[in-house]
Parts: sequence; structure tokens; C-alpha cells
Amino acid sequence: MPAQFETFLCLSDNVGVLIHDPSTGATAVVDVPDAGAALAAAARRGWTITDVLITHEHGDHIQGVAEVKEKTGAKVTGPAQAMAGAPVDVVVEDGSRIAVGSLKGEVHATPGHAAGHVIFHFPAETAAFVGDVLFVMGCGRAFGSMDDLWRSVSKVGSLPDDTRLWTGHDYTLSNAKFAMSVEPGNVDLQKRFMRAETLKANGELWGTTNVGMEKLTNPFLRLKEPEIRKSTHLTESATPREVFAALREMKNRF
Ligand SMILES: [Zn+2]
Repeated sequence: MPAQFETFLCLSDNVGVLIHDPSTGATAVVDVPDAGAALAAAARRGWTITDVLITHEHGDHIQGVAEVKEKTGAKVTGPAQAMAGAPVDVVVEDGSRIAVGSLKGEVHATPGHAAGHVIFHFPAETAAFVGDVLFVMGCGRAFGSMDDLWRSVSKVGSLPDDTRLWTGHDYTLSNAKFAMSVEPGNVDLQKRFMRAETLKANGELWGTTNVGMEKLTNPFLRLKEPEIRKSTHLTESATPREVFAALREMKNRF
């Protein structure tokens, strides 16, 4: 039976998500910005949280982990870097395999935003949880190395096009505005920008996407587009890595 998902808002702009295995009843929450929000989301669906998957060590992703573990007895899986702030039971790294009930996932190291950042990819479910590496029409900040972040964002972009992505934050409207500023001629982007404006006006959450749509509209996955390179004022010979770094700096100042 295919996995079921529940997406919900946490704090002001964090995106919470549950992945549920109907055949075993196992349910994982990916990151816990707010334990109350995660437990309430599970209760709404009649699910019990059995697993916590941590994408990275930032406080707004792990601060509710201890409370969820205490209230549910869930097993906590995450990178070693999260251990200082959360009760991690199983440490994972690049290439680790995980399971949520009968659902099988792969762990990919994706540093750059945070040293210990990992993403969880469930190929058979065409789903991946990408934390703060990639956002809808945008990407995370480079608190670590810009080269690492570029490689990590590219890694998400190299997953199959139909892979559904759950991101760590809803920065969608701000990202759409920035994307429009660097590639105003992109028709797919224009449509998504209008949709972001409508959803935001209605107060709705938009933190999910898929790889194919991001390849059409996310400037950080469109580094070879002439219009985007031009907007960075780099020369024709600029490499994708250089375009990425320039775009990220521009977004910081946007
Ligand atoms: Zn973060």
C-alpha cells in the first residue's frame, strides 16, 4: 500500500510533515519545530508517531523532538550533528538505509546549509524530505560552504522528476518574487508566481513541490539559462557553480 502524507504548518513558516505506512501503522514525523503541532496532526489522522526523522541540527527543526519522543516512545533517527540538541537513537550518514514500517528510505548527505544536513528519499513512494536544502522556487542559505550547498541543491535536482518534495519552510512567495526578478521571461514561473500570490492572500501553506516543477521554475536549478546568468552580470564563461553563488548572494540582499 502506498504511503500517506499529512502536511501542516508549524511556528510561523516551518512545514511539518508526517509519512504513514498503512500496512504496518508506522508513522514518521520529519523534523519537529513544534511538538504540539506534530502530535495534533497525528491525532487528526488517527496515527501514532513511531519515528522521528531529523534533517539537520538547527533549533527550529529539532526543538520539539525530545517532547515527541517522551510522549510517544518514537525512535529518533538523524545526523550526528543533531545529537547535541536532540535525543538521537540512530545516527545516519550518506548512504544509510532507513525504514518507516515497510517503507524504505535512503539517506543522502546534503551539507552547505548545515554541516550535518541529510535528506530522506523514499524511491518507491516517489517522495523526498529535503529540509532546508531546497525550497519551492528557492534554496536554503549557505551557513557552511557555498560549494557544498551548490552540490546539495544539484543532488536534489538530480532525483527523478516525479519525486514529490517536502521542504522545511514556506518561503514560497518571497522565493517566487526573487525568481521572477532574475528570469521574468519564464512562463512556467509566471504562472507559479501568480499561484503563490493567490495562496498567500488566502493564508494557505505552500511547502511542497516536485523535482520536475522545480527544474522548470527554480533559478538555483536553472544555472545554465542565459536570462538567469545575465541577471547575475557574470560573463558568458561563468560556470554553473559561479552562477549559483552569485544568485544566492543576490537573494540574501533581495
Ligand atoms: Zn535550517
